[in-house]
Amino acid sequence: MKEVKDTDITHIPFEAGNISALKEWRLRVLKSDCPGCYGLCCVALHFSASEGFPLDKAPGKPCPHLMADFKCEVHDSLAARGYKGCIGFDCLGAGQRLTGVTFPSQSWRAAPKLSRPMFEAFVVMRHLYELLWYLSEALERCEGKRLRRALQEALIETDSLTFLDPEALVKIDVNALRAGANEFLIEVGEQVRGIYGNGKAAPQSVRQRLGRYADLAGVKLGAMNLKGANLRGAILIASDLSHSDLSGAELIGADLRDANLCGANLANALYLTQAQVNSAKGDRETQLPEILDRPVHWV
Ligand code: SF4
Repeated sequence: MKEVKDTDITHIPFEAGNISALKEWRLRVLKSDCPGCYGLCCVALHFSASEGFPLDKAPGKPCPHLMADFKCEVHDSLAARGYKGCIGFDCLGAGQRLTGVTFPSQSWRAAPKLSRPMFEAFVVMRHLYELLWYLSEALERCEGKRLRRALQEALIETDSLTFLDPEALVKIDVNALRAGANEFLIEVGEQVRGIYGNGKAAPQSVRQRLGRYADLAGVKLGAMNLKGANLRGAILIASDLSHSDLSGAELIGADLRDANLCGANLANALYLTQAQVNSAKGDRETQLPEILDRPVHWV
């Protein structure tokens, strides 16, 4: 396994206002690095058919495809075997953080006594990393000193929590933390969507259906101007967004499983994650934010 050093996992680079340093930090820290992890997501989490897995698996039980070296034996055929949930999962870097820093160089296989605390801490760390992801993007894109300061404080607080020891980590009230961050994320969402026109350029029939938690599963939204649209928590399963412009569209929590993103412009979409992109369909023409990787299964 690749060794993760303490120095690879640094605190957020404040000196705030240094957005290029923040971008560099996001690229380096908020990226999953499976060779630097002991396959935590393949053991700690629960699988079920409703989440895109062909089998049910209890949390804490290793997936039958996880090999002794912590690699996946069916990595190259996940989709064909029905493991869409694995393709669509991204720990954002929480896994290598746990195995490299919180439990340095200790695997759950070599030290079974540590399994339970490690898996419980992984679940919390994953939530913290998700918050870091959204807060750091919000800070990158927000306007105004008050909001910038509030986001900076929230980010520093969340970052410092990730350095806690396992006992303290599992006591974190993640819901309260999220609720506190949410008001800032919403405010930045309104700012960014406003800059891009709040989805007002979409056709009238579509405009009426846009909005928070909109159910747009299977809906044809292709080749449309969806700039600044509010798609917060929207259900976009198998919807057609091909060749649409989603600049400034807010996609936090949107379900993009099997959505068609071929040729779509998401380069400036807000709160888009690698997991959402991995679970969708796209191609070489799909434009993504710089921080996200083009999924290898896209043609
Ligand atoms: S199928 Fe592979 S990636 Fe998915 S949980 Fe099992 S070992 Fe991990």
